[in-house]
Amino acid sequence: ALIRQGTYWTQSIDADYVSAVLPRRKPDGHKGAFGKASLIAGSVGYTGAPVLAAKAAVRTGCGLVTLGVPESIYAITAGKCDEPMPYPLPDTKGQFSKKALQSFRQRASGSDAVLIGPGVGRAPEAAWLMRSLLEELSVPVVVDADGINALEGHIDVLDRRKGRVTVLTPHDGEFARVGGDLSGGDRLGTAREFARAHGCYLVLKGHATVIASPEGTALINTTGNSGMAKGGSGDVLAGMIVSLLAQGAGPMAAAAAAVWLHGRAGDLAAQALTEYAMTPQDMIGRISAAFQSIR
Ligand code: AMP
Ligand code: MG
Repeated sequence: ALIRQGTYWTQSIDADYVSAVLPRRKPDGHKGAFGKASLIAGSVGYTGAPVLAAKAAVRTGCGLVTLGVPESIYAITAGKCDEPMPYPLPDTKGQFSKKALQSFRQRASGSDAVLIGPGVGRAPEAAWLMRSLLEELSVPVVVDADGINALEGHIDVLDRRKGRVTVLTPHDGEFARVGGDLSGGDRLGTAREFARAHGCYLVLKGHATVIASPEGTALINTTGNSGMAKGGSGDVLAGMIVSLLAQGAGPMAAAAAAVWLHGRAGDLAAQALTEYAMTPQDMIGRISAAFQSIR
């Protein structure tokens, strides 16, 4: 449907759109056919974000999910993961060290899509690692949270990736750190301009999340509610996007379908539990119901 956003008319995402763009599941497919998603996330102090993202990725359908976390939180992470496969990476003081680059390279080789950033913290070495991964990875990369913060003052890293698929998922604060100026109140126009300027797909999160492509197209989401305004919601979304990318969805389709399903899962959680009491974990538990609501 067309909806009005300030001075623009834009297409909104609906169930039919999601149904049309979701990767089909080959009846005779094995787990390799449904993609491998590699995540690198977490730090001491942020032990939930990597697990939420990895579980959401599994729930969204990809075949394999591996999760690199700082050594210091490996045991707690492993204790919370059954389907995702966590492994330890070198750290200092609970955040990734530069040595993690080489190890991640080995573990993530052969992956179809990568998610970097949830809960990695803002230590200089961890930020350096985020930028280095962005520079060298040729598969589609979702950049969330501290992965975005690592680009503050280093937006040229994105520009060097032009031609490769990058999906940035900032909330307003993270968007401001990488130069997004929302002071004019035009979220749609600002998102489109940013995506075009930096050759990336931008998921500008919040109420009525905007998804913009480097080609200048944009979509607006209509699902979701204020019960999702809680720490951890964004990690769930990032895991869902990387999962659809790993399954072979195009970047616009992966981002928009994940955003819609994520909001729908949030709406179903709110119906059952209230906006007050629902948690991001409850949303992961309703990704299945969100899929069911599109057929
Ligand atoms: P983050 O700030 O990274 O945890 O991400 C928050 C997630 O919750 C994003 O997907 C937002 O779009 C969503 N969200 C937050 N507040 C609202 C709201 N008031 N209405 C709808 N969605 C929201
Ligand atoms: Mg976040």
